[in-house]
Amino acid sequence: MKDRIDKLVDELNDHSYRYYVLSKPIISDAEYDRLLRELEKLEKETGYIRVDSPTVRVGAPPAEEFKQVTHRTPMLSLSNALDEEELREFLKEKASFWSIELKFDGVAVSLLYEDGIFARGATRGDGLIGEDITNNLKTIPSIPLKLRKQSSKILEVRGEVLFLKDDFIDLNQQRREEGELEFANPRNAASGTLRQLDSSITASRTLTFFAYGTPDKVKDTHSESLEFLSDCGFKLSPYRKVVSKKEEVIDSYKEALKMRESLPFEVDGLVIKIDKLSEQEYLGERARTPRWAVAAKFPPVEATTKIESITLQVGRTGAITPVAELTPVNVAGVVVSRATLHNREEIARKDIRVGDYVIVRRQGDVIPAVVSVILERREPSLNVYKFPETCPLCGSKLIFEEILTRCPNQNCKGRLVQKITHFASRKAADIEGLGDSTAELLVESGLVKSIPDLFKLTKDDLLKLPRFAEKSASNLIERIQERKSLPLNRLIFGLGIRHVGEKIAKVLVVHFGDKLGEATLEELSSIDEIGPEIAHSVVNYFKEEGGILRELASLGVKGELPKVKEGILSGKSFVLTGSLSSMSRDVAKDKIESLGGKVLSSVSKKTDFVVAGEEAGSKLKKAQELGVAVISETQFLGLISGG
Ligand code: NAD
Repeated sequence: MKDRIDKLVDELNDHSYRYYVLSKPIISDAEYDRLLRELEKLEKETGYIRVDSPTVRVGAPPAEEFKQVTHRTPMLSLSNALDEEELREFLKEKASFWSIELKFDGVAVSLLYEDGIFARGATRGDGLIGEDITNNLKTIPSIPLKLRKQSSKILEVRGEVLFLKDDFIDLNQQRREEGELEFANPRNAASGTLRQLDSSITASRTLTFFAYGTPDKVKDTHSESLEFLSDCGFKLSPYRKVVSKKEEVIDSYKEALKMRESLPFEVDGLVIKIDKLSEQEYLGERARTPRWAVAAKFPPVEATTKIESITLQVGRTGAITPVAELTPVNVAGVVVSRATLHNREEIARKDIRVGDYVIVRRQGDVIPAVVSVILERREPSLNVYKFPETCPLCGSKLIFEEILTRCPNQNCKGRLVQKITHFASRKAADIEGLGDSTAELLVESGLVKSIPDLFKLTKDDLLKLPRFAEKSASNLIERIQERKSLPLNRLIFGLGIRHVGEKIAKVLVVHFGDKLGEATLEELSSIDEIGPEIAHSVVNYFKEEGGILRELASLGVKGELPKVKEGILSGKSFVLTGSLSSMSRDVAKDKIESLGGKVLSSVSKKTDFVVAGEEAGSKLKKAQELGVAVISETQFLGLISGG
């Protein structure tokens, strides 16, 4: 058992070094946590605890390239509650109130303010000694260089530096375009960016800082201290609560878990802290974690597994996506057996091979992706993956356009199958029982050559196919026929026009209704949400498939128009320009739309009102040239309040 402990300690310390210092972990967090738990259990059983055990230490020692900073008080980690039972165990500690906030999945830093001025910033390091990264932290806009509120001579603020999901996507896209390696996840990206020796690199990326506390006693409770930090100019967890009942803590966990995917940044749990500082002091700290706080972890979204094979998926537009077929693995409660490999170049860049162990990640509603290969676990016999030259479904020679690969065959069965499954999918026509394999069968048999063909199917047609019996055949026909009445936006979304997702389909229907097929490029482009790419894509689609809406209509599939929200602005179109002092443009847009009006991005003769805020520019000029009514912010406020 001692051997196993030694092995685990060495292994975990090595992983910590890779994670904290190199920002390049080779196992998933879940796997790290599993090993750590095993070590904890063995240490408890044997009483053998090494001085360098990760169970008694925080993080990893600072890297030599940075100046060292000794923390005024240790920066501890948090003990984890992995399930409700463990959370209830923590709640047994006596507390008058619990303060609840999100657990940011970023990098912990300490910021020191002297006389209200940002003086020094450091990483957590091993908890006692961190790395001086003051210059890098100074480039982060959400870190105030001067506090908005004067406090004591010295104030230390602790919090987490992270990438917002959108900023992370932009960063990786930029790296991809520049031919650099993508970061595996926002946390690694934040850690790597913060620990740059060249601050201009840090400055070129958009990091955000959230404060989660101060070791200085500025108030009597944690929640009041947070409010104080907010007054000083810091961002705080957008989800915060102070509760007095255990059940409220449990409910908060469930509530926060539901919002997890819609948050603009990644969180890996909730942090529950005993609110009163006097009660915190009474409980005190363990070697690496306080007793008065716990991290109620959300299920991990990453896991390690093996690639069994790589298959090619042909999309609706002929675009080919390589897919990793995986040894099934549980990721945050969902069994994942396939993950996207994005494109040919991605496979080459990451040097992904069949037989490799990889980290897969599930994020939001997005399909799971292979984040990275664990090279250390690669067997030497694995061959470099050779991308096929022909379409696996129709045999056509594939076309390679930069990073994209396409099957050029318009009638490729793979494309048609995807079109049909997309049309039948839950957010489109929602035809239950028409999934991949049925679509394949229908296409393979030649019964379905287009979306409208679905509505021509008869029970007898289906009965000729394998796998269909009386009942299943009549069920499917019934469901297809039921979908003849369908909201138009779902029908449009179901057509699978490139770049037209659910949201854009709604926008298109609001503006064009069933005349979408006749919309011109100019008309499409004048809508705020419709960029040039979408506009072109819609026009091209109807150029190629002009008759599809008519053919569907002749089969009785009309698409119902949404009921126009009647309001005082019904039928009126607006263009917003300049900045409004009482609300953001987005809020103004929501208000107009909620009152039945439309908001367009460019001024034309048809525009009813141009709302001119401060520093209104070319749109105002255009409105004046065209003689369109221009109203001020005050007039606009009068209008929306019913004036
Ligand atoms: P942790 O994430 O388990 O929890 C402690 C940290 O949470 C604090 O230091 C603090 O920075 C942060 N935090 C976020 N929001 C907070 C809030 N609202 N209030 C207070 N603190 C908040 O941290 P840890 O000790 O750095 O490390 C353990 C984590 O790192 C585990 O998830 C582990 O899997 C991962 N890890 C992974 C590897 C690997 O190789 N994959 C190696 C080492 C560690």
